[in-house]
Amino acid sequence: MNNELIFEKAAPILAQLEKAGFDAYYVGGAVRDYLLNRPIGDVDIATAALPEEVKRVFSKTVDVGIEHGTVLVIWQGDGYEITTFRTESDYKDFRRPEKVSFVRTLEEDLKRRDFTINAMAMDRHGTIVDPFGGKAALQSQQIQTVGKAQERFSEDALRMMRAARFASQLGFQLHIETEEALSRCASLLEHIAVERKLMEMDKLLAGKEAAAGIKILLEGGLIAYLPGLLGQEQRINKMLSYDLNKLTGIQKWLLLLVLLAPHKPGDWLKKWRMPAKKIKYLAGTYETALKQQKEEWTDFSLYEAGVDQAMDAEAVNALLAGRPSKAEELKNRHADLSIHTRKELAITGKELKEWKNETGGPWMKSYIEMIERAVVERKVENSKEKIKEWLEACNLL
Ligand code: ATP
Ligand code: MG
Repeated sequence: MNNELIFEKAAPILAQLEKAGFDAYYVGGAVRDYLLNRPIGDVDIATAALPEEVKRVFSKTVDVGIEHGTVLVIWQGDGYEITTFRTESDYKDFRRPEKVSFVRTLEEDLKRRDFTINAMAMDRHGTIVDPFGGKAALQSQQIQTVGKAQERFSEDALRMMRAARFASQLGFQLHIETEEALSRCASLLEHIAVERKLMEMDKLLAGKEAAAGIKILLEGGLIAYLPGLLGQEQRINKMLSYDLNKLTGIQKWLLLLVLLAPHKPGDWLKKWRMPAKKIKYLAGTYETALKQQKEEWTDFSLYEAGVDQAMDAEAVNALLAGRPSKAEELKNRHADLSIHTRKELAITGKELKEWKNETGGPWMKSYIEMIERAVVERKVENSKEKIKEWLEACNLL
């Protein structure tokens, strides 16, 4: 859906809140991305209404973060987060505060936001509210904190990573004061929960100017406070010698792994508190990448890796070796394989038991593996008959 349409769809929500007597605006990333003509993600709405008041205005709501003032409103099948204008006070330990205070004006709400480009609002008629020069910062492509950078980074140290992440996503520079404060405050990142760091790192690596984001992490000294990266500045610097735009976000994680070569990649990824599924995928792809640096892809290695792992490993290996990627070719080769999973085998344990007239046991697993390999390598056709003939010819029945 295009940006205009997204706002058009959400406009009646603002109208309803206004009708009930509460100011309401689009805020944050959606306004920024709209002005930049980038595809907008979520439409966040800020309002003077308290959570209870929001819930009275709409029939379908979900309490997603009442203590932070956020209510999810379900509107024509889509969910919209509506957050009461708030300030954040009493920052403790350089982290986001636990408690927030609600306020009745938009301006106070915008003031607590991290960067000027993120501190704009738009009403339902398209009028922009921009008290901190966000539009000018978009023009000059600068990331600048709202208020004194050092204070804002001391309140919530994650903002330093967010600065690097936006530099990557938008291709913007840091404003000089923001950059200097980032270097001074880097060590405060130590107090930030890994989960929050991971979210920003994921977005940073997926950004179109990931190298610029990584440079900020390096030059600002943030690297030392990221999981598993202490003392790895040189290796990360090496990452910058490659054209990272050739890789997807996950492939950039993989490149990082290959360059760091941790003893136990799974444990290294665990330090980042990644979801188990992603750890498994990345650690598996890492092994595949290392293996394929030493040998050619065969049908069976493609089958074992699966198409996603094969393509990701190949993209990274090609970049490291300075040769064109064969990922597309591998994708086609994988599509042409006789089978893609064990489930596609024409036989199961049931046939094996019948043919051998035996009860199940460990022998079945090795039979299945042998047949699987023979079918993938096209030594035998994937049909019940042919597999049976082949087993007989091998004296296995
Ligand atoms: P994205 O497109 O990645 O979602 P976003 O700008 O919407 O980018 P979010 O993390 O979703 O970023 O945050 C929404 C808004 O909340 C931001 O635009 C900013 O105004 C404010 N914000 C988020 N995190 C912080 C923070 N740590 N400190 C101050 N303001 C923040
Ligand atoms: Mg957002």
